[in-house]
Amino acid sequence: MRITAVRAFRQRQPFADGTYSTAGGSAEGFDSLIVAVDTDEGVTGWGEMAPLGAFYADAFASGARAGIADLAPGVLGADPCQPRRLVRRMDSAMRGQPYVKSALDMACWDAAARFRGQPLCEALGGRFGEAVDLYRSLPPIEPGAAAGLARRYASDGYRRLQVKVGGDPHTDARRLAAVRDAVGPDVALFADANGGWTTTAARRFLLATAGHTYTLEQPCATLEECAAVRPHCPHPLILDESIDTLPALVRAGREGIADGVTIKIARVGGVTRAATLRDVAVELGMTVTVEDTGGATIDTAAMLHLSLSTPEPHRLHTVDFTDWVTVANGDGLPAHAGGRMAAPSAPGLGVEVREAELGEPFLRAS
Ligand SMILES: [Mg+2]
Repeated sequence: MRITAVRAFRQRQPFADGTYSTAGGSAEGFDSLIVAVDTDEGVTGWGEMAPLGAFYADAFASGARAGIADLAPGVLGADPCQPRRLVRRMDSAMRGQPYVKSALDMACWDAAARFRGQPLCEALGGRFGEAVDLYRSLPPIEPGAAAGLARRYASDGYRRLQVKVGGDPHTDARRLAAVRDAVGPDVALFADANGGWTTTAARRFLLATAGHTYTLEQPCATLEECAAVRPHCPHPLILDESIDTLPALVRAGREGIADGVTIKIARVGGVTRAATLRDVAVELGMTVTVEDTGGATIDTAAMLHLSLSTPEPHRLHTVDFTDWVTVANGDGLPAHAGGRMAAPSAPGLGVEVREAELGEPFLRAS
């Protein structure tokens, strides 16, 4: 099978709940890059990548659009069924810029799995169970408001809540305590600072939340700072933003800095590398969340397949972005119930893309 054309689309995806905030900034929606890979077998594969916003990571939406225009002509004629060769080809054409490559890599996996008639989770090596736990995120808002939102999510069936922290550690501690009071002991809480604290602030938060049960996520920006916090943290610790390469993951596992990792597909450059990092994390005995920086239906399908192909004792949870945004770009995702969601069973990502809603591609390479 050969790639005969690459088409790229832009989709703006406003957030259903308004502004989304982390310690570093806020966004009103995703600005998504959607890539279609057409082949000489008549199969088309789809991929998606959306930065949370230029503030969040070394990625920005207009950079992705510029980058894909440079990258696409170089993959024409390549075989999407050989993803590692494609990654080499993209890496030699463009150094770094993993987020630019992510949707193209995902589209090739979708095309290859569709061609073989296999759901992506099975093409990635195996389906573990039938459904994945989902989490919901609580913004860094006033503690009472966060508690109210937490109650709503808990009554919707979610058993995993991510409480955004990373600001004033005492206000953050009050938010976590209010959420715990609101949802009781059976909901797993994750205090996610998105790297917003100094080591001092992280230690103050740990002292102020003594007696509470939760998992700490990415307290400080760098691996070194997180390593300095680790001896003071009696809770499981997860790294997210620091896990941008395989060497960073191996160091986090080997040096005992993290018990688990969050792998974001766009940050590592697509499905190929996300699967590699996931497999290594599992071998190192860590827990793994595979998710992404943003997107809608297509991207959520990829997160579900990567999550469902992660062995259960190591799989933490993922997120359903279709709940976050007011637009969709495909059909075929199973409805989620009780805070859990299955992956589609059709070949590839298992999503029928709503091509008509995407409008004209801003790029067509053929
Ligand atoms: Mg996180």
